[in-house]
Amino acid sequence: MGLVVQKYGGSSVADAASIRRVARRIAETKEAGHDVTVIVSAMGDTTDELNDLAHKVSPNPPGREMDMLLTAGERISMALLAMAIHDLGHEARSYTGSQAGLITDSAHGRARIIDITPGRIQSAIADGAIPIVAGFQGVSHDSKDVTTLGRGGSDTTAVALAVALKAEVCEIYTDVDGIFTADPRAVGRAHKVDTISYDEMLELAAVGAKVLHLRCVEFARRFGMPIHVRSTFSNATGTWVVADPTEGGTMEQPIISGVAADLNDAKITIVSVKDEPGVAAAIFRALAKAGVNIDMIVQNVSAQATGRTDVTFTCPTADMARALQALFDARDEIDFETLTSDEDIAKVSLVGAGMRSNPGVSATFFSALSDAGVNIEMISTSEIRISVVTSAAAAPEALRAVHTAFGLDADGEAVVYAGTGR
Ligand code: ASP
Ligand code: MG
Repeated sequence: MGLVVQKYGGSSVADAASIRRVARRIAETKEAGHDVTVIVSAMGDTTDELNDLAHKVSPNPPGREMDMLLTAGERISMALLAMAIHDLGHEARSYTGSQAGLITDSAHGRARIIDITPGRIQSAIADGAIPIVAGFQGVSHDSKDVTTLGRGGSDTTAVALAVALKAEVCEIYTDVDGIFTADPRAVGRAHKVDTISYDEMLELAAVGAKVLHLRCVEFARRFGMPIHVRSTFSNATGTWVVADPTEGGTMEQPIISGVAADLNDAKITIVSVKDEPGVAAAIFRALAKAGVNIDMIVQNVSAQATGRTDVTFTCPTADMARALQALFDARDEIDFETLTSDEDIAKVSLVGAGMRSNPGVSATFFSALSDAGVNIEMISTSEIRISVVTSAAAAPEALRAVHTAFGLDADGEAVVYAGTGR
C-alpha cells in the first residue's frame, strides 16, 4: 500500500495523553500496511506563548531570532511524538524542517518553499521507520538560517512533503470532523461537507475559514494532491478536498459550500479626493510601497457639485497604521480632505461553485442580511463568492442568518472536540 502523509495540529498534541493517542493512530496506520510520514505542529498554544514571551523581552524582535524561537515549539512535539511511537514498537525518527530538506527563501516569518530535498525522509521510509517532521519551518537557501512559513504553515509543510514524496493522500488531522459549512464554533448548526473543490476551499480559506492554511490549498491544487481533513478524536471519514467533487458520481454539486467571517481586516476611507485620472493610481502606489495588502476597494460616485469622491478600502488590521502613515506621507500628491478608519469590521462571505449557474443567490443572500437587520458597508464578488463588510458586532448574526437562508442548517449541533481550531 502507498504512502500516507499525516499532519497533526496543535490541539491534537496538546498534552502527553494526546501525544500518546496520536502515536497509536500513527502505529495503526503503519500496521495496516502503509508507509507513513508525519508532520506535527507545536503543542497546544506553544507558538502563541513563545510569541508573547518574545514581545515581553523585546518590543521589536528580529525576524531571524523570532524564527529560531518559534521553531522550537515543533522540535518539542516531534521528539515527544517519536518517543511515544517507539514505545508502541515502531521506529520513529524526528527531523527539523531543515533536516527534512524544506528549502525556503529568506523572508523570515513568511518564507516560501522553493525546493524540497527529502533524501533523509526517503531513506527513513526505506528503512521501515516513521519520519516525524517539524511543521512550518525550513532553511533559507542562501543565508542557511532557519525560517518559518507563517502562522498555520504546518498544513503547507504537509502538502509540500506529500507532493515531494508522491504520497497517495495528505491527511490533515484537526479537532473537528472535517470542513463545515461554517465554523462550528460560531454556527452550531453547521454541517460537515463530504467533498469540496480546491477552488471553493481556496475562497473559503482566503475569507477566514481557519481549518486549512491558504497556501496548502494552493499547493495541493497545483499538484493535484488530495487532502483529507479529519478528526484526531474519531475514526469518521472527514472532508476530501479534490479537483472535482462531482467526478465519478452523478451528484450535482451543492450550490453553496459554506459561509465564513473574517475579523482581521480594517477599513480606511480617503475622504474627498478629485475624481480624475491618476488618483487611484497614486493612492495604491503609496500603499504598495508601504507593503500594505489591499482587499476590497470601493469608490463612490462623485458629487456633481464638487467633482470629488471618497475611496474606501480594506486591509489587514495589522497593516492599518502603516497604511494611514503612507497616505499622509503622500497627501500632497493624492490631495484628500481627511482619512477615517475603522477596525471593528467583519467580512462575511458566501462561497459556492454552484453560484456560477444558479440565479437568485445574491437575492437570497441580501434578503437574509436585511431580514436580520444587518447593515452592509461594502460588497465584493468573485465568480464563486459574495462578500460584504459589516460591523464586527453584526457578524455572528449575519453568519447564522445566511447559513439558515441557504438551507445549510443541520438537524443537530456540530461536535467540536477541542477548542482552538488548530
Ligand atoms: N505552530 C505554528 C502555529 O501555531 C504552525 C502551525 O501550527 O501550523 O502557527
Ligand atoms: Mg492550522
